[in-house]
Amino acid sequence: MIDGNCGYWRSEEPRPPIEEALPHIEPLISRYNEVPVRISGRHIHISQSDLEQLYGPGYKLTKYKDLAQPGQFAARETVTVVGPEGVIEDVRILGPVRDRTQVEISGTDGYHLGVDPPVRDSGNLEGTPGIVLVGPFGAVTLREGVILAATHIHMNPEDADKLGLKNGDRVQVLVDGERDIIFNQVLVRVDKNYITEMHVDTDEANAAVIEDGDCVIIIGKVLIQ
Ligand SMILES: [Zn+2]
Repeated sequence: MIDGNCGYWRSEEPRPPIEEALPHIEPLISRYNEVPVRISGRHIHISQSDLEQLYGPGYKLTKYKDLAQPGQFAARETVTVVGPEGVIEDVRILGPVRDRTQVEISGTDGYHLGVDPPVRDSGNLEGTPGIVLVGPFGAVTLREGVILAATHIHMNPEDADKLGLKNGDRVQVLVDGERDIIFNQVLVRVDKNYITEMHVDTDEANAAVIEDGDCVIIIGKVLIQ
């Protein structure tokens, strides 16, 4: 704000110790705390019924290439995303099909499209903006489903054990690079089908000067009271 008071420390109250504003961290003491990063471009997870509206009755996704996470693939199919103020063509569908359609974009994309999606964990779509998708057969108007994907780490159970982490934990991650950025509250998702890697979107990668395949360091577990 213009007077320099952002409202965190209200002026009428004595300022509490800075520690109260910092996340409480339990440092990880492990030599296995480095994980590789994948940069996720904008993409769509699609339901079968929406796919059929976009590509025709009975349509099935076809594989373009496998992703690092086992079973996940980039499809040949793409759609045009139409927002109130802009259009993005050739947005890749990732398979397999899901129960609900979800559009994952960057904040920069949202600015271009004219939507202002919140940061959400995958699948948590309530109250998110809608958008229009256009395919070669038809169009779908989504009532909700556009998100900025929250930073997360896919982790297999063996790696989680080594680090003392479990599904749903939040961690701090250091990008020990040109900008030395720390990501706070990174969600850890543990599943036996995962290979261990952190996912960031293109805006996060640009801000933190991350290149696809770089390694980052999990420095601690965030203790949430
Ligand atoms: Zn992911």
